[in-house]
Amino acid sequence: MKKILVLEDEASIRSFVVINLKRAGYEPIEAETGAQAFERIKENPDIRVALLDIMLPDIDGFEVCRRIRAADPHMGIIMLTARTQEMDKVTGLMTGADDYVTKPFSPAELTARVDALYRRMGGEHFDSGEMVQGPFKLNTRNRTLEKNGVRIKLTQVEYSIMKMFMDNPGKALSREDILNTVWGRDYFGELKIVDVNIRRLRIKIEDDSTNPTYITTVWGYGYKWGL
Ligand code: CA
Repeated sequence: MKKILVLEDEASIRSFVVINLKRAGYEPIEAETGAQAFERIKENPDIRVALLDIMLPDIDGFEVCRRIRAADPHMGIIMLTARTQEMDKVTGLMTGADDYVTKPFSPAELTARVDALYRRMGGEHFDSGEMVQGPFKLNTRNRTLEKNGVRIKLTQVEYSIMKMFMDNPGKALSREDILNTVWGRDYFGELKIVDVNIRRLRIKIEDDSTNPTYITTVWGYGYKWGL
């Protein structure tokens, strides 16, 4: 189930949101105060999206947003704003929210926004921290890879390359892109390090590393992930 935190102190709005999220196939987890919201997140580490009201009895929704973001940069956050809070939208997005919905909103509008956020976050696999492509299952929480259910031991660098590939299926990635993403822009080593790691990764994940089918070479450019 896709768990969503619903932080809203007004019971009528909260139940309206909860009912409609349930209808859309989500599992809402309710909170009335900021403090409760943090507790719920602690109890349910698989919450991937949070809907945050702004005016709350304790701390405001922006502060909740900022703290959630600080603890989990990957949480999807949608602010529930009132029409009179135009400026709040801007502030909300600056404190790290992904989107906002203006009250009063229709059920269709709410679920469309939530669905869109889930899609942007990479789809259903996100609620379990898993990316599944073909025989491969990448667990983004404990940074492990399985092929046909068998664990493949990866170095942190190899994991990061796999993650980059699985985030970009079918897309040719230049060796410079891979170097910048995996090693960082301040890495001063040679581009060749990319090839060395890809070669090792192929030995681990390909059926036949001399004839790779998952990580293919894009001559004069880089590599491409495909199934
Ligand atoms: Ca409120």
